[in-house]
Amino acid sequence: MADLQLKGVSKVYPGNICAVAPTSVQIEDGEFVVLVGPSGCGKSTLLRMIAGLETVSQGEIHIGGRLINNVPAKDRDIAMVFQNYALYPHMTVYENMAFGLKMRKLPKSEIENRVRAATNILGLNGFLDRRPKGLSGGQRQRVAVGRAIVRQPKLFLFDEPLSNLDAKLRVSMRAELIKLHKRLKATMIYVTHDQVEAMSMGDRLIVLKDGMVQQIGAPLEIYDRPANQFVASFIGSPPMNFISGSILEQDGHVFLKGEGFQVKLPDERKAVLTELASGGPRAPHAGSPRGVPGSLSLVLGVRPENISERQVYHGVVDGNVIKARVSFLEPLGSEVLATCSLAQHEIIVRLSPRTSTKSDEVIELVLDMERTTVFDPVTTEALW
Ligand code: ADP
Repeated sequence: MADLQLKGVSKVYPGNICAVAPTSVQIEDGEFVVLVGPSGCGKSTLLRMIAGLETVSQGEIHIGGRLINNVPAKDRDIAMVFQNYALYPHMTVYENMAFGLKMRKLPKSEIENRVRAATNILGLNGFLDRRPKGLSGGQRQRVAVGRAIVRQPKLFLFDEPLSNLDAKLRVSMRAELIKLHKRLKATMIYVTHDQVEAMSMGDRLIVLKDGMVQQIGAPLEIYDRPANQFVASFIGSPPMNFISGSILEQDGHVFLKGEGFQVKLPDERKAVLTELASGGPRAPHAGSPRGVPGSLSLVLGVRPENISERQVYHGVVDGNVIKARVSFLEPLGSEVLATCSLAQHEIIVRLSPRTSTKSDEVIELVLDMERTTVFDPVTTEALW
């Protein structure tokens, strides 16, 4: 096992297509890191550069302290698990798992020991003589993981390994991979476009968009303190709500006022707001060609679970109530998602499964202002 260091690694394809902008990150030995982002954001390209299946345009990749840019894929001591499993159809499960080790000319007894250990971990005993076509999708994926385990690599790379499985199997394989990581304590890098998979599996996430890293951090850190509006809406389902308004100072407090609502911002943010209003370095639109210094329009971000119905809210209500009309309700059993309209905005609120609220009602909603985020409407960066 080993750590992985990327130093300004980028990929530009012919035609000047920048698939991955210079990326630097240190991944510790034993860490489970998830590369997550929408399709086309450069996740696979980054993973394939680490694997040695794609050349690096610029920058350096180090595994266990060794520069490996020019080391061929087969000599990198990396095992990769693909979305399509890539099993040999004419070989049995045993042969599929043993193949790589045979090519490396490992002694027969060592191969047997490693395959047996992996089949025990993965619950594949009893399937060793079957060919892939006689296995379910989940079993095939386990064989693909087994083939990676027997290699005892320095690094495991997973490229959307669960995408071909149905929803239920995906959830159980997810749990199996988490357990596997705990057991092997191996360094794993996992690519997915599924933010739930990312949140539930990763020690840390690297969120990508258009080939650029948007944020690196622990799942909850990213969920609670997204770096920008893209991250705020990509991580979390339903996504964070955005409500735009302008700053208003009144009676020593600061408010965000927009069409049909006014909420009091936390008093401890006053200093930041004063700095913003004076055009300081953190001023909204700083560096933006559309910058309008001093015009403090902001976007308030609030997650659906940080909004409550006033009638069932037990906390302090102090300038943090808004009125919205319920457009429609989605009862999900454990909760009811209410899509509400607030002037031109549409917001989604998580309500209690036993709510008595009906569609078309105008309801009072309390925002947990301590858990809100504020964004610059032009740069979309989080201001706090
Ligand atoms: P993801 O894995 O996040 O879906 P990819 O890494 O596959 O994204 O692709 C990132 C970007 O690079 C995309 O815009 C894609 O079209 C482009 N790309 C990928 N492979 C090639 C290639 N061989 N030649 C040119 N462009 C490519």
